[in-house]
This record gives sequence, structure tokens and C-alpha cells, in this order.
Amino acid sequence: MKYLIALDAGTTSVRAFLYDLQKRAFVRRAQQELGLSFPHPGWVEQDADEIYYKAAYVLNDCIRAAGAENVAGIGIANQRETVVMWDRQTGEPVCPAIGWQCRRTSAWCAALDEETKMLVRTRTGLVPDAYFSASKIVWDRENIPSVRALGEKGRLCAGTVDSYLIFKLTEGRSFVTDVTNASRTMLFDIRAMRWDDELLRRFCIPRAILPEVRDSDARMGEAVFGGRRIPIAGAAGDQQAALFGQGCRRAGEGKVTYGTGLFLLFHTGEACVSSNSGLIATPACRVGGKTAYALEGSCFHAGSAIRWLRDGLGFLSSAAESEALATRVKDTGGVCFVPAFTGLGAPYWSPDARGVLCGITQATGRAEIVRAVLESIAYGARDLTDAMQRDSGVPLSMIRCDGGASANAFLMQFQADLLGVPVDRPVERESTALGAVMLAALSLGIMDGDAAASLRTTERVFSPSASARAACEEGYKNYLRAVRRAMLK
Ligand code: ADP
Repeated sequence: MKYLIALDAGTTSVRAFLYDLQKRAFVRRAQQELGLSFPHPGWVEQDADEIYYKAAYVLNDCIRAAGAENVAGIGIANQRETVVMWDRQTGEPVCPAIGWQCRRTSAWCAALDEETKMLVRTRTGLVPDAYFSASKIVWDRENIPSVRALGEKGRLCAGTVDSYLIFKLTEGRSFVTDVTNASRTMLFDIRAMRWDDELLRRFCIPRAILPEVRDSDARMGEAVFGGRRIPIAGAAGDQQAALFGQGCRRAGEGKVTYGTGLFLLFHTGEACVSSNSGLIATPACRVGGKTAYALEGSCFHAGSAIRWLRDGLGFLSSAAESEALATRVKDTGGVCFVPAFTGLGAPYWSPDARGVLCGITQATGRAEIVRAVLESIAYGARDLTDAMQRDSGVPLSMIRCDGGASANAFLMQFQADLLGVPVDRPVERESTALGAVMLAALSLGIMDGDAAASLRTTERVFSPSASARAACEEGYKNYLRAVRRAMLK
């Protein structure tokens, strides 16, 4: 067999990647955009049917190109937390999928009693919030009569996007999910690795409507394409798939995705660390029968601040131009920026904070401001790695980077200098898809762990420079002062 396929079912698009095992590279990609609807302020919905048909379409594209007989298996990575409710008998969704960004259940989550909130923290590793699946399932069951009716008939299925896609692709034969997706529901005990009976009882969610939970490298079932059966081998939530695809396997290794926002996962080995900083504890992936854990944190704004320089202020003609401008000056001349456009997340949790640009003099020009904005992205990652090292007692050993803004060599070098560890940029930046390929290769026994990890190769390492460290520390102290101003009412 020559090929594996990675299905990346994201929020705004679903994509299939055909991976050539001999060339060790993706040789074809197919993509379909997905709609999002916003029926009320703060509500976000998607059409699960559309997700499935478009997933089947992009998979078909790759399978036709490769020849079904040459495809060894399909690995799945997917947007997490989003809830689909469907009829076990027909496979039809019974209501719109509630998206991970949807805030309709915020008040319900805030009103949970302290004991339940503590139970959520200790059992699931999560911070009780509308972001996670549980309150979305409760909402559907309380507000949609057809959901209740199906539940009474014993035909209701509730799951995340992976489990719905697997159910449909296997024509209803597999009702399963993996541990990383289950861990985002607020219903899963991440130490015992099972649905938590106490939380299910408190939220009045019957165990029977939830999928069976398997390891991330498990066989999930067989998809049927034109009469041929292709194994679905491995599944994981997109961030965990990316951590895996970056080859982060040991405690202290982290991956940072510099996209619209910044997503950091920090591997903590076999220890499940509880955070004191409002970070999330999560299974990294469960492969080879062993669970590895990670701490997860994010900054709401990273690449979006560069986009603001370009589109909002007209300072840049392209995002890439930020690199040349930033390196035109030796420092920001005391200018400091905090991209708190929509508040600050971990470790500050200040929803009312707003952006700050300070330290401006008459000598301040475009280059200083652009540099300050790029530096602020690296400072956000430093906030998170400091908190993660404090919480876990595990020192950070390296960062592996991906996402659009990881193309910026100034930013990557500044990040290495600021953190004092190497920042390693891969050849293949589609880490999520590569993670799904690795899971499929392991699941099918095509490769062992080391061989799978070797599919990820380094394009460039940014080594920390000792001489730059002092200036970076000074800059970070300025940034921390600016954060305090950002949080002033
Ligand atoms: P997402 O997947 O979140 O949509 P991407 O990973 O595609 O994001 O990254 C896009 C973001 O990266 C944009 O916000 C853009 O401003 C930023 N970006 C792209 N190239 C560069 C660059 N060379 N320097 C800095 N930022 C960049």
C-alpha cells in the first residue's frame, strides 16, 4: 500500500491530504469550505450534514486519485468540543451542531454549584466553561423536543465531530470517539480514562447516548468507498494531533501554533498536572496503550495583530513585510504592545482588558511599532510557558512551531532568545494532518513510534542567543507592566 489519508475536519473547512509513504510527503490536498451560522448574538452553529458530505467529498477526491486499493487507511483530526446530535437508526442529525465558540450556555455554566465546578476541574482537567461539550448537550436535551423524543426511544446519539464522521463513514457500524476528543466534553475522567458517572449524573446525561471511547491509535471502523472498505485508523482532536505531528513525545517539549490566535501545548509526560493558572490539563494522545498528558493554553490574538497592522492601520502591505520592517531597527525604542483586543486569557483571565500601545516618543516610527507587535506575540507564549513550568515543575526544553506567522524568522528568533530554548520549524507545517498520518501508520502497524516520529523533519532551528537574553528580559518586564495597564478599568 502506497498511501495514507489524513482528514482534517476543521471549523471553517474540511480538508483531506493524500500522504505518499515512499516520498514521505503530502502529494494531494482537497478542501471544502464550511458554513457557520450565527442565529443570535454569541451563538454559533454548523450543519453536521454539510460537514459529513464535504468530508466524504474531499476523501473521495484523494481516494479516486490514489486508487482505493492503494490506500492503507484514514486518520482523522478534527475541531474539538462541537456537539452533534443524531438518530442512531437513520444517521440524520436532529438539530444544528452547536459550535465550540458558541456562548449560549455561559450563564448555565456560571450557575453550576462550587462542588460541581471543583469536580469538573479535578476529574476532567478543564475549567468549567460553555466552550466544552457538556453544557451544549444539556441545552439540546432541554430545549429541542425532537432530541428529547429520540432520547425516550433510545435512539439518540451525542458526540463530537470525529464520532459523527466515523458513524457516517462506517454506515452506522461504529459509534466511537478517541480519548482526546472525549476529554473536551467536560464528562470524561482523564486519569481513569472513562466517562465520569458522577458528572453524567449531575448533568442528567445518560451514558448510553455517548460513544465508546478508544485510544487515539485504535481502529475506529471501516469506511466504505465505492464498495471498498478502508480502515479508519486513529483519530485525535486537532491540537493534540498537531502536538503528535510535531513529534513532541517527551515531558518539556512544546508546540506553538502561530495562527490567528496562538495555541500552546506543553507535554508533561505521564504526569497529569493540575494547573493553578487556569490552564487546561489534557491527554496528549493515547498511543501504544499509554496515556501521555499535556498542559494547554492559548492567546486569543497573535497573527490577528499583524492583520490589524495591515488592514486596520495600513502599516503593512503584507503580513510578511512585518519581518523586514522589524529588523530595520535594533529595538522598539521602549515601545510596548499588548494585543488584548478581546480581553486576556491564561494566565490573566481578564475579559475586560483591552489593547495597549505605550512608550511612544517622537522618535517612534512604523518599524518600532511593528516590532513591538511582533514581540508581543512572543511575550504571550512566554506568559504561558512560565505558567506551565510553574504548574508542572517540568522545565521547557524546546518549542516546535507551525501556523502562518511561524514563517516570520524575526519572530521565531526572538521567541528562542526570550524563552532560552531552541525553536524548531518543520518542513511540513501541516502538523495536524501529519499527526493524523502518524496515528494511522501506528494504528495499522505500518510503522513503530520512532519511524512515525521521523516523518516530521526540521527545516530550520532558531537557537537562543545568550547575548540577546538580557534585552529580551527587559522587554518582557516592560510588557508585564503594560499588561497591568491593559487590565485597568
Ligand atoms: P489560521 O489557521 O488561524 O487561520 P494561519 O495559520 O493561516 O491562521 O496564519 C495566518 C495568520 O498569520 C494571519 O493572521 C497573518 O497575519 C499571520 N501571518 C502570516 N504570515 C506572517 C508573517 N510572515 N509574519 C507575521 N505574521 C504572519
